[in-house]
Amino acid sequence: MTPVGVFSGKRVALFGLGGSGLATARALLAGGAEVAAFDDNQASRDRAAVEGVAIVDLAGADWSRFAALILAPGVPLTHPAPHWTVEKARAADVEIIGDIELFFRERAASAPDAPVVAITGTNGKSTTTALVAHVLRRAGRDVQMGGNIGAAVLTLAPPALNRIHVVECSSYQIDLAPSLRPTVGIQMNLTPDHLDRHGTFEHYGAIKERLVANADIAVIGVDDEPSKQMARRRAATGRKLVRISGEQPLDEGVFAGVTANAGGLDTRIVQVRDGRPRVVANLAGIGSLRGAHNAQNAAAAFAACFSLGLSPEEIAAGLRSYPGLAHRMEEIGRIGRVVFINDSKATNADSTEKALTSFRDIFWILGGKAKEGGIGSLTRYFPNIAKAYLIGAASDLFAATFDADGRVAYERAGALDVAVAAAARDALAHPGEGEIAVLLSPACASFDQFPNFEVRGEAFRRLVTGLPGFEAFAAG
Ligand code: ADP
Repeated sequence: MTPVGVFSGKRVALFGLGGSGLATARALLAGGAEVAAFDDNQASRDRAAVEGVAIVDLAGADWSRFAALILAPGVPLTHPAPHWTVEKARAADVEIIGDIELFFRERAASAPDAPVVAITGTNGKSTTTALVAHVLRRAGRDVQMGGNIGAAVLTLAPPALNRIHVVECSSYQIDLAPSLRPTVGIQMNLTPDHLDRHGTFEHYGAIKERLVANADIAVIGVDDEPSKQMARRRAATGRKLVRISGEQPLDEGVFAGVTANAGGLDTRIVQVRDGRPRVVANLAGIGSLRGAHNAQNAAAAFAACFSLGLSPEEIAAGLRSYPGLAHRMEEIGRIGRVVFINDSKATNADSTEKALTSFRDIFWILGGKAKEGGIGSLTRYFPNIAKAYLIGAASDLFAATFDADGRVAYERAGALDVAVAAAARDALAHPGEGEIAVLLSPACASFDQFPNFEVRGEAFRRLVTGLPGFEAFAAG
């Protein structure tokens, strides 16, 4: 835990006692603050009270006595409407901040030069965060990883000079962290998302930009126009900037270059310094980093780790041994040339699209509770599909899309176990020599058949590992 001493002896209001909220309460108490907490959920209140957190009726409290309102990131600060605690705090001129802000204030007070890598963007945050942490760890560094991924930031060991914190930040968290000043700040990309919480695309972008604007070293993806403009604004300040791209050559920075070879496509990471390009890593054969989107993630991780003093060889070794995140195009293992991929996190067509572009002969298991638009946007990838297996409530809808298109053989498997057995049988009997994939990438929510996407992915893993001849993937 990182005890937060910056509010020692002061009274703070805390709203939201879920996982990170409760961790924040603990860290503030450990640092000597007086915490008055509340949550609409009775069970959350009870759990906190058992630990000695004072549950206070914040609606009726004297707000002039609070030094700050600590808000959980899920609670609306601005959109669709400010939460009532936000109104109360504003009326009493009480600052409103979150756990990432507390972490950075604590670092400023106790270890201002402790290295921190902060990562944001619309997509690829978790992958890049996990990848940076893995590469650094593999090179022998003391690494603490958390924030919007895994552990809440204040549950991590405190900042220290010889320890690197790798912190994923959602836009909500950045919005509550005015003194976020990472050593390396990474902004991956920007596409419209979460606009219900940020109002406009411009506001959403401005929040993300704060993370890189205040970084000692800014790493910015330039594959979309708004992020490109962020890089231009950063360049104009003369402060350190590394541009990265997953798809186009750059004059300076780190990019992924795709070249064809006899066996297929090679994706090389190229670093250009002082105008001189140098191939620093090859992603070919790294199952956990397939696809153009992962080339962008790898380029970002390279730039960040190089900035922190790792050699290109150390970084390349880290990329090669990256095990991947569970449920995101996760290579579970193989039987001969059939590779089994768990992409249960793909709960919409956009996410599934990444998987469909990453393989050629695909035995595709899909379905569940359909999202708006179904799989209509995916028809251009249908030539990659050897056969599809429909599960869950979306079966009729998706069957209609396949029927209208006419190119995809499919069967209605109904349940996941039937689909896995049929897909494995067909894939193993498929003629040819290249790699083929049995892919669970549902393009649907799981709720009709499973409690959540994790349980769905675990069920797939269990079914697949039980197949005769199955060999689990081992990270090198
Ligand atoms: P986040 O934490 O930002 O949600 P993840 O790393 O968990 O991102 O990836 C979630 C999904 O987003 C992946 O399954 C993939 O479909 C897509 N994705 C990952 N990286 C990128 C990227 N760099 N650009 C676009 N899409 C990406």
